[in-house]
Amino acid sequence: MATELPPLREVIREFDLRAKKSFGQNFLLDLNLTRKIARVAGDLSNSVVYEVGPGPGGLTRGLLDEGAKRVVAVEMDSRCLPALEQISKAYNDRLTVHQGDALDVDEPEILQQKEGETLRIASNLPYNVGTMLLIKWLTLDRWKPWFASLTLMFQREVAERIVAKPGSKAYGRLSVLAQWRGKVRIAVNVPAAAFTPAPKVASAVIHFEPIDPIDPTVRLKDLELVVERAFGQRRKMLRASLKSLPVNATELLDRANIVETSRAEDISVEDFVRLARIYREMQA
Ligand code: SAM
Repeated sequence: MATELPPLREVIREFDLRAKKSFGQNFLLDLNLTRKIARVAGDLSNSVVYEVGPGPGGLTRGLLDEGAKRVVAVEMDSRCLPALEQISKAYNDRLTVHQGDALDVDEPEILQQKEGETLRIASNLPYNVGTMLLIKWLTLDRWKPWFASLTLMFQREVAERIVAKPGSKAYGRLSVLAQWRGKVRIAVNVPAAAFTPAPKVASAVIHFEPIDPIDPTVRLKDLELVVERAFGQRRKMLRASLKSLPVNATELLDRANIVETSRAEDISVEDFVRLARIYREMQA
């Protein structure tokens, strides 16, 4: 642990890092909490961790203290760079920071994986782009992907949508996509008061590990289309909501063994995967 580093409150004062809404900045200042989040990511000793938005470096310090071999971070706000430079020095250059927008980053290129290293993603994501980043990582063409896990802070309502099961209001596109491609759970609930400034809503950390595809013949674009149409009119029966697909909806549901009067929120991830496969077959 780099004890020579000042507490985060002092870092924020010294480098004048007043939180800006436009950057989605709500900082974690409790290093016990950031270490707890870092531990959710797993055994970090051989891991290179990609962190989006280190800000003043609370989670970054947690990851390094918990033994991450290296942390590679992308931060949009240039005001944070001197504070992060201080962390890098205190931890023998195990931290590398790039300035930019994480939505545009080619992660494997900046991570420079060496033999024997496991790549992971851990971030307290900015609220304004968190879901977009998750979708970027969940919709990679190559699966399994380059990362072994995602440990991500979201607003609690978004975290609940990611882990939601059929039959609940939160179940939707994000749940199907995440649970098709991995095992996911809520690992830590974090109250709004843990952040500076405190946001209006509570947050939660999710942990995701990629799994092999439920059915490798299913294409992402077919699954996304079927799910989008089904949840686009979630109160309607599937025979109506899937009518806009260029195949016969009743036949599609029949061949997939799904009762045509079901609604999107009633059917499982496996059912959606089957629908996507049969949709593809019917188009061939
Ligand atoms: N990790 C820090 C913590 O836990 O205290 C800060 C988290 S704060 C919720 C989000 C961080 O992401 C901010 O530092 C913000 O400047 C940065 N950020 C916002 N949009 C970004 C983007 N598109 N790419 C990279 N960083 C971004």
